[in-house]
Amino acid sequence: MTPETNALIDKLAEQHSLTEAEYIHLIETRDADAQALLAGLAREAADAVYGKTVFIRGLIEISNICKNDCLYCGIRRGNADCVRYRLSPEQILSCVDEGYTLGFRTFVMQGGEDGWFTDDILCELIQTIKTRYPDCAVTLSLGERGRDSFARLRKAGADRYLLRHETADAAHYGKLHPEKMSLAYRMECLSDLKALGYQVGCGFMVGSPHQTMAHIAKDLKFIERFRPDMCGIGPFIPHKDTPFRAEPAGSADLTCFLLSVVRLIHPRLLLPATTALGSVTEGGRERGILSGANVIMPNLSPVAVRDKYMLYNNKLSSGPEAAQNLKDLRTCMEKIGYEIVIDRGDSRQ
Ligand code: SAH
Repeated sequence: MTPETNALIDKLAEQHSLTEAEYIHLIETRDADAQALLAGLAREAADAVYGKTVFIRGLIEISNICKNDCLYCGIRRGNADCVRYRLSPEQILSCVDEGYTLGFRTFVMQGGEDGWFTDDILCELIQTIKTRYPDCAVTLSLGERGRDSFARLRKAGADRYLLRHETADAAHYGKLHPEKMSLAYRMECLSDLKALGYQVGCGFMVGSPHQTMAHIAKDLKFIERFRPDMCGIGPFIPHKDTPFRAEPAGSADLTCFLLSVVRLIHPRLLLPATTALGSVTEGGRERGILSGANVIMPNLSPVAVRDKYMLYNNKLSSGPEAAQNLKDLRTCMEKIGYEIVIDRGDSRQ
Protein backbone atom coordinates (compact mmCIF):
# COMPACT_ATOMS: atom_id res chain seq x y z
CA MET A 1 0.00 0.00 0.00
CA THR A 2 1.41 3.40 -0.92
CA PRO A 3 1.41 6.20 1.68
CA GLU A 4 -1.04 8.04 -0.58
CA THR A 5 -3.56 5.17 -0.53
CA ASN A 6 -3.13 4.91 3.21
CA ALA A 7 -3.86 8.64 3.55
CA LEU A 8 -7.01 8.32 1.42
CA ILE A 9 -8.31 5.52 3.63
CA ASP A 10 -7.66 7.64 6.74
CA LYS A 11 -9.42 10.59 5.14
CA LEU A 12 -12.44 8.47 4.21
CA ALA A 13 -12.72 7.08 7.74
CA GLU A 14 -12.54 10.56 9.26
CA GLN A 15 -14.46 12.68 6.78
CA HIS A 16 -16.81 10.06 5.25
CA SER A 17 -16.21 11.54 1.84
CA LEU A 18 -13.63 11.68 -0.94
CA THR A 19 -13.60 13.44 -4.30
CA GLU A 20 -14.39 11.44 -7.44
CA ALA A 21 -10.71 11.54 -8.42
CA GLU A 22 -9.74 10.24 -4.98
CA TYR A 23 -12.25 7.37 -5.15
CA ILE A 24 -10.86 6.38 -8.56
CA HIS A 25 -7.31 6.51 -7.21
CA LEU A 26 -8.26 4.47 -4.13
CA ILE A 27 -9.92 1.76 -6.22
CA GLU A 28 -7.21 1.62 -8.87
CA THR A 29 -4.28 1.42 -6.45
CA ARG A 30 -5.87 -0.98 -3.98
CA ASP A 31 -3.93 -4.05 -2.95
CA ALA A 32 -4.44 -6.73 -0.30
CA ASP A 33 -3.08 -4.50 2.49
CA ALA A 34 -5.36 -1.63 1.56
CA GLN A 35 -8.33 -3.99 1.36
CA ALA A 36 -7.58 -5.43 4.82
CA LEU A 37 -7.08 -2.00 6.39
CA LEU A 38 -10.31 -0.70 4.88
CA ALA A 39 -12.31 -3.78 5.90
CA GLY A 40 -11.02 -3.49 9.48
CA LEU A 41 -12.05 0.18 9.70
CA ALA A 42 -15.43 -0.56 8.08
CA ARG A 43 -16.11 -3.38 10.54
CA GLU A 44 -15.16 -1.13 13.47
CA ALA A 45 -17.56 1.51 12.18
CA ALA A 46 -20.41 -1.01 11.83
CA ASP A 47 -19.69 -2.59 15.22
CA ALA A 48 -19.79 0.86 16.87
CA VAL A 49 -23.39 1.31 15.63
CA TYR A 50 -24.81 -2.22 15.50
CA GLY A 51 -22.47 -4.31 17.63
CA LYS A 52 -21.62 -7.86 16.59
CA THR A 53 -25.07 -8.45 15.12
CA VAL A 54 -26.46 -9.30 11.70
CA PHE A 55 -30.04 -8.49 10.68
CA ILE A 56 -31.98 -10.91 8.52
CA ARG A 57 -34.79 -10.26 6.02
CA GLY A 58 -37.08 -12.91 4.59
CA LEU A 59 -37.02 -12.49 0.81
CA ILE A 60 -40.20 -13.50 -0.98
CA GLU A 61 -39.88 -13.46 -4.76
CA ILE A 62 -43.50 -12.80 -5.61
CA SER A 63 -43.37 -12.91 -9.43
CA ASN A 64 -40.84 -13.28 -12.23
CA ILE A 65 -43.20 -11.75 -14.77
CA CYS A 66 -41.75 -8.44 -15.92
CA LYS A 67 -42.70 -5.81 -18.44
CA ASN A 68 -39.17 -4.47 -18.51
CA ASP A 69 -36.27 -5.64 -20.61
CA CYS A 70 -33.15 -4.75 -18.60
CA LEU A 71 -30.25 -6.20 -20.55
CA TYR A 72 -28.53 -7.85 -17.57
CA CYS A 73 -31.54 -9.52 -16.00
CA GLY A 74 -32.55 -13.15 -16.45
CA ILE A 75 -36.26 -12.43 -15.95
CA ARG A 76 -36.37 -9.68 -18.62
CA ARG A 77 -39.41 -9.70 -20.83
CA GLY A 78 -37.34 -10.71 -23.86
CA ASN A 79 -36.25 -14.01 -22.30
CA ALA A 80 -38.64 -16.48 -23.89
CA ASP A 81 -36.94 -19.40 -22.10
CA CYS A 82 -37.83 -18.13 -18.64
CA VAL A 83 -40.59 -20.23 -17.06
CA ARG A 84 -42.90 -17.63 -15.56
CA TYR A 85 -44.74 -17.77 -12.22
CA ARG A 86 -46.69 -15.51 -9.94
CA LEU A 87 -47.46 -16.19 -6.28
CA SER A 88 -51.01 -15.63 -5.10
CA PRO A 89 -51.59 -13.38 -2.07
CA GLU A 90 -52.44 -16.55 -0.11
CA GLN A 91 -49.11 -18.11 -1.05
CA ILE A 92 -47.28 -14.93 -0.08
CA LEU A 93 -49.07 -14.85 3.28
CA SER A 94 -48.14 -18.42 4.00
CA CYS A 95 -44.46 -17.55 3.30
CA VAL A 96 -44.84 -14.71 5.81
CA ASP A 97 -46.41 -17.03 8.40
CA GLU A 98 -43.60 -19.51 7.97
CA GLY A 99 -40.99 -16.73 8.11
CA TYR A 100 -42.44 -15.30 11.29
CA THR A 101 -42.19 -18.67 12.99
CA LEU A 102 -38.58 -18.97 11.82
CA GLY A 103 -37.73 -15.63 13.44
CA PHE A 104 -37.98 -13.13 10.59
CA ARG A 105 -39.32 -9.66 11.49
CA THR A 106 -38.84 -8.07 8.06
CA PHE A 107 -40.39 -9.37 4.87
CA VAL A 108 -39.14 -8.21 1.50
CA MET A 109 -41.52 -8.70 -1.40
CA GLN A 110 -39.45 -8.56 -4.55
CA GLY A 111 -40.46 -9.18 -8.12
CA GLY A 112 -40.46 -8.22 -11.74
CA GLU A 113 -42.70 -5.35 -12.83
CA ASP A 114 -45.83 -7.47 -13.03
CA GLY A 115 -49.00 -5.47 -13.72
CA TRP A 116 -51.14 -8.09 -12.00
CA PHE A 117 -49.94 -6.67 -8.68
CA THR A 118 -52.09 -3.56 -8.75
CA ASP A 119 -52.12 -1.05 -5.90
CA ASP A 120 -55.41 -2.54 -4.65
CA ILE A 121 -54.00 -6.05 -4.42
CA LEU A 122 -50.71 -4.92 -2.85
CA CYS A 123 -52.42 -2.60 -0.35
CA GLU A 124 -54.64 -5.37 0.89
CA LEU A 125 -51.70 -7.72 1.17
CA ILE A 126 -49.57 -5.19 3.05
CA GLN A 127 -52.46 -4.38 5.42
CA THR A 128 -53.02 -8.05 6.13
CA ILE A 129 -49.35 -8.62 6.94
CA LYS A 130 -49.14 -5.52 9.16
CA THR A 131 -52.35 -6.44 11.02
CA ARG A 132 -51.28 -10.01 11.54
CA TYR A 133 -47.70 -9.08 12.51
CA PRO A 134 -47.60 -5.50 13.81
CA ASP A 135 -44.04 -6.05 15.03
CA CYS A 136 -42.76 -6.65 11.49
CA ALA A 137 -41.47 -4.35 8.76
CA VAL A 138 -42.66 -4.73 5.17
CA THR A 139 -40.17 -3.93 2.43
CA LEU A 140 -41.09 -3.70 -1.23
CA SER A 141 -38.76 -4.18 -4.18
CA LEU A 142 -41.08 -4.11 -7.16
CA GLY A 143 -39.33 -1.73 -9.50
CA GLU A 144 -40.58 1.58 -10.82
CA ARG A 145 -44.13 2.66 -10.04
CA GLY A 146 -45.70 6.10 -10.07
CA ARG A 147 -45.60 8.47 -7.11
CA ASP A 148 -49.31 7.92 -6.43
CA SER A 149 -48.76 4.20 -6.26
CA PHE A 150 -45.80 4.58 -3.90
CA ALA A 151 -47.98 6.87 -1.75
CA ARG A 152 -50.83 4.36 -1.55
CA LEU A 153 -48.52 1.48 -0.66
CA ARG A 154 -46.87 3.58 2.01
CA LYS A 155 -50.24 4.49 3.46
CA ALA A 156 -51.19 0.83 3.52
CA GLY A 157 -48.20 0.22 5.80
CA ALA A 158 -45.14 -0.48 3.65
CA ASP A 159 -42.08 0.67 5.59
CA ARG A 160 -39.21 0.36 3.15
CA TYR A 161 -38.54 0.28 -0.59
CA LEU A 162 -35.50 -1.11 -2.38
CA LEU A 163 -34.85 0.31 -5.83
CA ARG A 164 -31.26 0.09 -6.92
CA HIS A 165 -30.21 3.08 -8.99
CA GLU A 166 -28.05 0.54 -10.94
CA THR A 167 -25.56 3.24 -12.06
CA ALA A 168 -25.40 6.97 -11.42
CA ASP A 169 -24.10 7.70 -14.93
CA ALA A 170 -26.85 8.37 -17.48
CA ALA A 171 -24.86 7.10 -20.49
CA HIS A 172 -23.93 3.90 -18.64
CA TYR A 173 -27.56 3.51 -17.53
CA GLY A 174 -28.52 3.67 -21.21
CA LYS A 175 -26.20 0.77 -22.02
CA LEU A 176 -27.81 -1.46 -19.38
CA HIS A 177 -31.45 -0.66 -20.08
CA PRO A 178 -33.87 -0.43 -22.99
CA GLU A 179 -34.34 2.99 -24.53
CA LYS A 180 -37.59 3.79 -22.81
CA MET A 181 -36.04 3.60 -19.35
CA SER A 182 -34.01 6.49 -17.98
CA LEU A 183 -31.77 7.29 -15.07
CA ALA A 184 -33.75 10.51 -14.58
CA TYR A 185 -36.95 8.56 -13.91
CA ARG A 186 -35.16 6.08 -11.65
CA MET A 187 -33.84 9.02 -9.61
CA GLU A 188 -37.30 10.60 -9.53
CA CYS A 189 -38.71 7.37 -8.08
CA LEU A 190 -35.98 7.33 -5.44
CA SER A 191 -36.61 10.89 -4.36
CA ASP A 192 -40.40 10.33 -4.33
CA LEU A 193 -39.90 7.29 -2.10
CA LYS A 194 -37.81 9.32 0.30
CA ALA A 195 -40.28 12.21 0.36
CA LEU A 196 -43.10 9.76 1.14
CA GLY A 197 -41.31 8.62 4.29
CA TYR A 198 -40.06 5.22 3.17
CA GLN A 199 -36.72 3.94 4.38
CA VAL A 200 -35.09 3.78 0.97
CA GLY A 201 -32.48 1.48 -0.51
CA CYS A 202 -30.46 2.26 -3.63
CA GLY A 203 -27.50 0.33 -5.00
CA PHE A 204 -25.60 -0.97 -7.98
CA MET A 205 -23.90 -3.98 -9.50
CA VAL A 206 -20.12 -4.27 -9.46
CA GLY A 207 -18.61 -5.18 -12.82
CA SER A 208 -21.74 -4.59 -14.87
CA PRO A 209 -20.93 -4.42 -18.60
CA HIS A 210 -19.33 -1.12 -19.71
CA GLN A 211 -18.76 -0.04 -16.08
CA THR A 212 -15.59 1.99 -15.45
CA MET A 213 -13.98 3.08 -12.19
CA ALA A 214 -15.22 6.60 -12.97
CA HIS A 215 -18.78 5.25 -12.99
CA ILE A 216 -18.22 3.62 -9.61
CA ALA A 217 -16.84 6.91 -8.26
CA LYS A 218 -20.07 8.57 -9.42
CA ASP A 219 -22.10 5.88 -7.66
CA LEU A 220 -20.19 6.59 -4.46
CA LYS A 221 -20.78 10.34 -4.74
CA PHE A 222 -24.48 9.69 -5.36
CA ILE A 223 -24.62 7.50 -2.24
CA GLU A 224 -22.89 10.26 -0.25
CA ARG A 225 -25.50 12.80 -1.34
CA PHE A 226 -28.64 10.69 -1.35
CA ARG A 227 -28.07 9.29 2.13
CA PRO A 228 -30.04 6.06 1.63
CA ASP A 229 -31.09 3.92 4.59
CA MET A 230 -29.96 0.80 2.75
CA CYS A 231 -27.63 0.06 -0.11
CA GLY A 232 -27.49 -3.14 -2.17
CA ILE A 233 -24.13 -3.82 -3.78
CA GLY A 234 -23.43 -7.13 -5.47
CA PRO A 235 -21.35 -8.44 -8.35
CA PHE A 236 -22.88 -8.59 -11.82
CA ILE A 237 -23.26 -12.23 -12.87
CA PRO A 238 -24.14 -13.08 -16.48
CA HIS A 239 -27.33 -14.94 -17.35
CA LYS A 240 -27.19 -17.29 -20.30
CA ASP A 241 -30.38 -16.02 -21.95
CA THR A 242 -29.55 -12.30 -21.91
CA PRO A 243 -27.54 -10.09 -24.30
CA PHE A 244 -24.80 -10.01 -21.63
CA ARG A 245 -24.41 -13.80 -21.57
CA ALA A 246 -20.73 -13.68 -22.54
CA GLU A 247 -19.71 -10.87 -20.21
CA PRO A 248 -17.45 -11.69 -17.25
CA ALA A 249 -18.86 -11.69 -13.71
CA GLY A 250 -17.94 -8.82 -11.38
CA SER A 251 -15.18 -9.29 -8.85
CA ALA A 252 -15.95 -10.44 -5.31
CA ASP A 253 -12.83 -8.60 -4.09
CA LEU A 254 -13.93 -5.29 -5.55
CA THR A 255 -17.47 -5.85 -4.23
CA CYS A 256 -16.13 -6.34 -0.70
CA PHE A 257 -13.82 -3.34 -1.07
CA LEU A 258 -16.80 -1.18 -2.06
CA LEU A 259 -18.91 -2.52 0.81
CA SER A 260 -16.17 -1.23 3.11
CA VAL A 261 -16.02 2.14 1.35
CA VAL A 262 -19.79 2.57 1.58
CA ARG A 263 -19.79 1.57 5.26
CA LEU A 264 -17.25 4.32 5.95
CA ILE A 265 -19.30 6.85 3.96
CA HIS A 266 -22.41 6.14 6.07
CA PRO A 267 -21.58 4.15 9.23
CA ARG A 268 -25.31 3.71 10.04
CA LEU A 269 -26.29 2.27 6.68
CA LEU A 270 -28.05 -1.09 6.39
CA LEU A 271 -25.75 -2.96 4.06
CA PRO A 272 -26.57 -6.47 2.84
CA ALA A 273 -24.04 -9.15 2.02
CA THR A 274 -25.99 -10.00 -1.13
CA THR A 275 -27.05 -13.32 -2.60
CA ALA A 276 -25.00 -12.43 -5.70
CA LEU A 277 -21.87 -12.09 -3.55
CA GLY A 278 -22.64 -15.46 -1.94
CA SER A 279 -23.24 -16.96 -5.39
CA VAL A 280 -20.05 -15.72 -7.03
CA THR A 281 -17.62 -17.04 -4.44
CA GLU A 282 -17.48 -19.59 -1.64
CA GLY A 283 -17.96 -17.87 1.73
CA GLY A 284 -18.96 -14.65 -0.03
CA ARG A 285 -21.58 -13.65 2.52
CA GLU A 286 -19.13 -14.10 5.39
CA ARG A 287 -16.56 -11.98 3.57
CA GLY A 288 -19.25 -9.38 2.98
CA ILE A 289 -20.02 -9.20 6.70
CA LEU A 290 -16.31 -8.99 7.54
CA SER A 291 -16.03 -6.10 5.06
CA GLY A 292 -18.73 -4.10 6.86
CA ALA A 293 -22.09 -5.50 5.74
CA ASN A 294 -24.72 -6.13 8.45
CA VAL A 295 -27.75 -7.63 6.69
CA ILE A 296 -28.47 -11.00 5.05
CA MET A 297 -31.61 -11.75 3.05
CA PRO A 298 -32.32 -15.49 3.03
CA ASN A 299 -34.81 -16.86 0.53
CA LEU A 300 -38.34 -17.45 1.86
CA SER A 301 -40.00 -18.12 -1.52
CA PRO A 302 -41.84 -21.42 -1.92
CA VAL A 303 -39.32 -24.12 -2.86
CA ALA A 304 -41.21 -24.93 -6.08
CA VAL A 305 -40.56 -21.47 -7.60
CA ARG A 306 -37.08 -20.80 -6.24
CA ASP A 307 -35.19 -21.92 -9.31
CA LYS A 308 -37.45 -19.80 -11.52
CA TYR A 309 -36.43 -16.44 -10.08
CA MET A 310 -33.13 -16.71 -11.93
CA LEU A 311 -31.75 -13.19 -12.24
CA TYR A 312 -28.34 -14.66 -13.13
CA ASN A 313 -26.71 -18.05 -13.59
CA ASN A 314 -26.08 -20.25 -10.52
CA LYS A 315 -28.05 -18.02 -8.13
CA LEU A 316 -27.95 -19.56 -4.65
CA SER A 317 -31.28 -20.47 -3.11
CA SER A 318 -30.51 -23.55 -1.05
CA GLY A 319 -28.21 -24.32 1.89
CA PRO A 320 -27.81 -21.42 4.33
CA GLU A 321 -29.40 -19.21 1.65
CA ALA A 322 -32.76 -20.87 2.32
CA ALA A 323 -34.70 -19.29 5.18
CA GLN A 324 -35.58 -22.78 6.43
CA ASN A 325 -31.88 -23.37 7.15
CA LEU A 326 -31.48 -20.37 9.41
CA LYS A 327 -29.70 -22.59 11.90
CA ASP A 328 -26.89 -23.18 9.39
CA LEU A 329 -26.66 -19.49 8.57
CA ARG A 330 -26.49 -18.76 12.30
CA THR A 331 -23.59 -21.21 12.63
CA CYS A 332 -21.78 -19.61 9.64
CA MET A 333 -22.10 -16.19 11.29
CA GLU A 334 -21.06 -17.45 14.73
CA LYS A 335 -17.90 -18.85 13.19
CA ILE A 336 -16.88 -15.32 12.22
CA GLY A 337 -18.02 -13.79 15.53
CA TYR A 338 -21.48 -12.48 14.58
CA GLU A 339 -24.94 -13.17 15.91
CA ILE A 340 -28.17 -13.20 13.93
CA VAL A 341 -30.85 -11.33 15.85
CA ILE A 342 -34.64 -11.53 15.82
CA ASP A 343 -35.40 -7.88 15.15
CA ARG A 344 -37.06 -5.62 12.59
CA GLY A 345 -33.55 -4.31 12.02
CA ASP A 346 -34.29 -0.64 11.43
CA SER A 347 -31.40 1.67 10.68
CA ARG A 348 -30.14 3.46 13.79
CA GLN A 349 -30.41 7.12 12.90
N1 SAH B 1 -37.76 -5.41 -10.58
C1 SAH B 1 -37.18 -4.95 -9.34
C2 SAH B 1 -36.33 -5.98 -8.68
C3 SAH B 1 -35.15 -6.31 -9.54
S1 SAH B 1 -34.16 -7.66 -9.05
C4 SAH B 1 -36.42 -3.66 -9.60
O1 SAH B 1 -36.34 -3.22 -10.74
O2 SAH B 1 -35.94 -3.07 -8.65
C5 SAH B 1 -33.12 -6.89 -7.88
C6 SAH B 1 -31.72 -6.52 -8.34
O3 SAH B 1 -31.03 -7.64 -8.86
C7 SAH B 1 -31.64 -5.52 -9.46
O4 SAH B 1 -31.82 -4.22 -8.99
C8 SAH B 1 -30.24 -5.75 -10.04
O5 SAH B 1 -29.30 -4.83 -9.54
C9 SAH B 1 -29.92 -7.17 -9.57
N2 SAH B 1 -29.65 -8.04 -10.74
C10 SAH B 1 -30.41 -8.25 -11.81
N3 SAH B 1 -29.78 -9.00 -12.72
C11 SAH B 1 -28.55 -9.28 -12.20
C12 SAH B 1 -27.41 -9.99 -12.67
N4 SAH B 1 -27.39 -10.56 -13.87
N5 SAH B 1 -26.34 -10.07 -11.85
C13 SAH B 1 -26.34 -9.49 -10.64
N6 SAH B 1 -27.37 -8.79 -10.15
C14 SAH B 1 -28.47 -8.67 -10.92
